[in-house]
Amino acid sequence: MGTCERPFAWSEIHHLIPWARGGDTDLDAIPLCSWHHHRAHDPRWHLTQHPLRGWELRARERRSRRPGRPQG
Ligand SMILES: [Zn+2]
Ligand SMILES: [Zn+2]
Repeated sequence: MGTCERPFAWSEIHHLIPWARGGDTDLDAIPLCSWHHHRAHDPRWHLTQHPLRGWELRARERRSRRPGRPQG
């Protein structure tokens, strides 16, 4: 069921493939709570589907900042 700890009853169905591209099957639909669902649609986050372990949501890496560099 993925990494979400919310009760299943709270979940919303998220389609990995938009309907516009023909993703109207059960295979691409996964239950997410609204917290994870919002992030699944956020370009800063990346949702990966695992065949056996459900899904995983990760924040994309940012390249804009370097850690620990003093200015000047
Ligand atoms: Zn969705
Ligand atoms: Zn969740």
